[in-house]
Amino acid sequence: MEPLNLHQNGSRIELLDVQQVQEVAEKIKMQFQTIDSVEEISITEAVGRVLAHDMVSKEDVPGFHRSTVDGYAVKARNTYGSTESMPTFFHITGSVKMGKDVNQTIQEGQAMYVPTGGMLPEGADAVVMIEDVEVVGDLLNVFEQVAPRENVIFKGEDVYDGEVVLKKGHRLRPQDLGGLAAIGVTKVPVYTKLKVGLLSTGDEIVPPETEELLPGQIRDINGISIAAAVQALGGQIIYGGIVKDQFDQYLSKSQELFQQVDFLILSGGSSMGTKDYTSQVMNQLGSPGVFVHGISIKPGKPTIIANCNGKPVMGLPGHPVSAMVLFELFGRQIMNQLHQVNENPFAKQLRARISRNIASQVGRTDYVRVQLEIRDHELWANPVFGKSGLITNLVKSDGMIEISQYKEGITAGEWVNVILFS
Ligand code: AMP
Ligand code: MG
Repeated sequence: MEPLNLHQNGSRIELLDVQQVQEVAEKIKMQFQTIDSVEEISITEAVGRVLAHDMVSKEDVPGFHRSTVDGYAVKARNTYGSTESMPTFFHITGSVKMGKDVNQTIQEGQAMYVPTGGMLPEGADAVVMIEDVEVVGDLLNVFEQVAPRENVIFKGEDVYDGEVVLKKGHRLRPQDLGGLAAIGVTKVPVYTKLKVGLLSTGDEIVPPETEELLPGQIRDINGISIAAAVQALGGQIIYGGIVKDQFDQYLSKSQELFQQVDFLILSGGSSMGTKDYTSQVMNQLGSPGVFVHGISIKPGKPTIIANCNGKPVMGLPGHPVSAMVLFELFGRQIMNQLHQVNENPFAKQLRARISRNIASQVGRTDYVRVQLEIRDHELWANPVFGKSGLITNLVKSDGMIEISQYKEGITAGEWVNVILFS
């Protein structure tokens, strides 16, 4: 649907053609092609980047049966029936050195000392912890029975030869890089960083370095917070600075930035005021142009999303809280989509009880910032109230909760999903 952009006697009527959150998400899904350019980088630099191929192990990890405790490697069945009062006797035939192939075999009734992480001798299938034995010369009293595989990580138990360890589209976390190191992969194919352009608009907006603000001036918050959010998702930010609410300047700066990036974000000027030019600028950047102008959401209603010659362009509301919430919801979706990222949304959510009643309007999805707290052994979410112009509202929050368009509000004590801020 085309956005309403009505002119009457030279002034525009404030009217947004709002769409539901779910509708917007669905529309975004149908719009943009993936960007497939790939580079190979070291795992030491790969945190936050998106894997471009499945990673398959070429070996077993561990490559040998490995003890998880300090103790004595034995045949499990030889320990059966061992108790504190009726220990079983073993002959100690030696000890295993870390990082060395023992090249020895355990026979019935024999035991060999093995440190944590050490290699089990041939014939052993379990390890008795040193807490459960007594050493008398080269004899061993075992006071506990162990089952086969007890206290042992078997060859290939962590990763087997040929196993897919990580899938294409996975955003690499520290533990994933550890997993790659374990299988000897030190270079990974990742998608080249998404280039994301960011432009702040507003006559009142000045660089954050401005020491003395003149009356009416505001430091550029979104130029910093949205840039950081993009970087946290593995994107490369190209910041275009601040432009005035002046159509020609806004358009030419946007066009210049648009050429250099995979995704363009414009902050401010997204409503229907006389000096709000974002939707017009976006429609000039390419076609088909704007497909979302106005979302039935609080905060962040005046949000714009366009497809300009296949490239996504997003117009975020200037209010810093709205801008961050809307980036988190849809900017993230767009970035993930461009790289086919497989993200488990629940990995960023947890359940908590809301501490206060919150009213909400049916037909609109609300996102309420919350601070988490443990009380009486339960996790509680305390709403952080405040207008969307207050950046500290976000600074004080750990995450946000969604109140669906179908609900009139939530009641104190209700369980809610908290979407954690990263
Ligand atoms: P706008 O979306 O341009 O109507 O702006 C809405 C409100 O957000 C206004 O109060 C602006 O001063 C404020 N605002 C716009 N852009 C920024 C920015 N980059 N940083 C901080 N506040 C902003
Ligand atoms: Mg403005």
